[in-house]
Amino acid sequence: MSNIQEQINILVEVQGVEVEILQADRLVNALSDEVTAMDQAAAERKALVSAEKETLDALKKSYRELESESKINAGMIVKSNEKLRGVKTNKEYQSILKEIDETRKKNSGIEDRMLELLDAIESAEAAAKVKEAELAGFLQSCQEKKESFAVKAQRERQAVDALNEKKAQISAKADPELITVLDDVKKKVRGLAVVPVQQAICMGCHMNIPAQLFNELQRFDELRFCPHCHRIIYWKEPG
Ligand SMILES: [Zn+2]
Repeated sequence: MSNIQEQINILVEVQGVEVEILQADRLVNALSDEVTAMDQAAAERKALVSAEKETLDALKKSYRELESESKINAGMIVKSNEKLRGVKTNKEYQSILKEIDETRKKNSGIEDRMLELLDAIESAEAAAKVKEAELAGFLQSCQEKKESFAVKAQRERQAVDALNEKKAQISAKADPELITVLDDVKKKVRGLAVVPVQQAICMGCHMNIPAQLFNELQRFDELRFCPHCHRIIYWKEPG
């Protein structure tokens, strides 16, 4: 192996670039999560608005039904009045009058309900208008955010491309054998695989390194590992 200190510097540099790549990837993912959350919120708001529209349609339908019922009743009253002219007996006359009276009462009830429905329709229409305007505003702001997120994400992806390029260039200077070791350690540990030892403490696991090993580290004659966390360790001057 060539100069261990030099090789470790290369590994640390590669690792630094990997951390930058990870951060950029996380940012891209966070942006994408935000877009997903926005889409979900938009879908929920759309569903609420369309549910309110359905309620409004149901009110209008009830109104139309009552209106046609009232028309039928009015027609019946006209017919009964015509019949009145042709009746022969008082009994028949009274019975038709009673019928007319009942139909009128019924229609008066229907008209009351129609008025109530008109009020309900009016306020539901006003509320729907407000909700629709709110939804339009929300969708507009979502769209604007999405556009700015897309620009940011694109910038991050380009940065990742450049970082990958940089990583490849630095890695090319490393001993392939060392890269293999590094990849192996990376599979076993969380976070950084190459860490400094400062004042006999491993900066990966914060445990003490045996004095013997600590002395050997300063020789930079071979790759050494933390006996506790198994990361690649190197000596770093205090300060
Ligand atoms: Zn350690």
